Amino acid sequence: MRIILLGSPGAGKGTLADEIVRKYPAAHISTGDIFRENVKNATPLGQEARKYMDSGALVPDSVVLAMMQGRLEQDDCREGFILDGFPRTVPQATALDSMLEELGVKLDAVVLLEASEETVVRRLSGRRVCRKCGAIYNLYFRPSSRGDICEKCGGELYQRDDDREEVVRSRLEVYNSQTAPLIDYYSAGRALVRISSERDGGGSPLEELERALGLVE
Ligand code: ADP
Ligand code: ZN
Repeated sequence: MRIILLGSPGAGKGTLADEIVRKYPAAHISTGDIFRENVKNATPLGQEARKYMDSGALVPDSVVLAMMQGRLEQDDCREGFILDGFPRTVPQATALDSMLEELGVKLDAVVLLEASEETVVRRLSGRRVCRKCGAIYNLYFRPSSRGDICEKCGGELYQRDDDREEVVRSRLEVYNSQTAPLIDYYSAGRALVRISSERDGGGSPLEELERALGLVE
C-alpha cells in the first residue's frame, strides 16, 4: 500500500498511519517524527530543523528533500509506505513525483483527512506525550487516569513546544498557505480520497479508507 496522508496539523494523520501499518505491510514515514528524533539526539540535521520547528514554520525544502532522498529505497518500504507529513509544499510534491518515477512505483491514494478548526486546535493544544515511551494522551479527549503521569510506563507527560496555543495558530496558517495548495495538485487527474476524522456515524477513518480502496465491502 502506497499512500500520502494530507491534512492540517491535528487532523489525525499520525493516528491513521499507525492503524494502517498495524494491519498492512507498509512503513510509516513521519517527517515530523524523524526531525524530532534528530532534535532529541542533537544531530546536525536536528539543530538545523529546530530553528524552524519551534516557531511552527516549515523546515526548508532542501533540508527535507536531502533527508527523504533514499528513504523510500530502504528495505522497509518495499511493500509500501504511508507518508505522514510529506510532501508539505508543491516543490516537495514535484520532487516526490520524480522519486516515485525513479523507483517505478505508483501511489494507491492521496488521502485528505479533514476536521474542523475547533477540533484541530483542541487536539493539538490538549496533546500530551510521554517522555519515556512516546504514548500520546489528550487533556480533552483522552486524559491519562494518572494526571501528568503515563498510564503505561509511569513516565512524565509533557507538551510539545510547538503544541502551545500560539504556535498552533501559526502552524495552521502555514498549513493553509503552503500545504493546502497540494489538495489542488493531487486533485488533478488522481484519486483524492476525502475522509473525515470526526466520527459522525460513518465508520472509522481506517474503515472509510479501506472502502475507498476497495479492500472491504
Ligand atoms: P503536525 O502535527 O504539524 O503535522 P509534524 O509532527 O508532522 O506536525 O511536524 C512537526 C514540524 O516538523 C513541522 O511544524 C515542521 O516544522 C517540520 N516538518 C515536518 N515535516 C515537514 C515537511 N515535509 N516539510 C517541512 N517541514 C516539515
Ligand atoms: Zn509512557
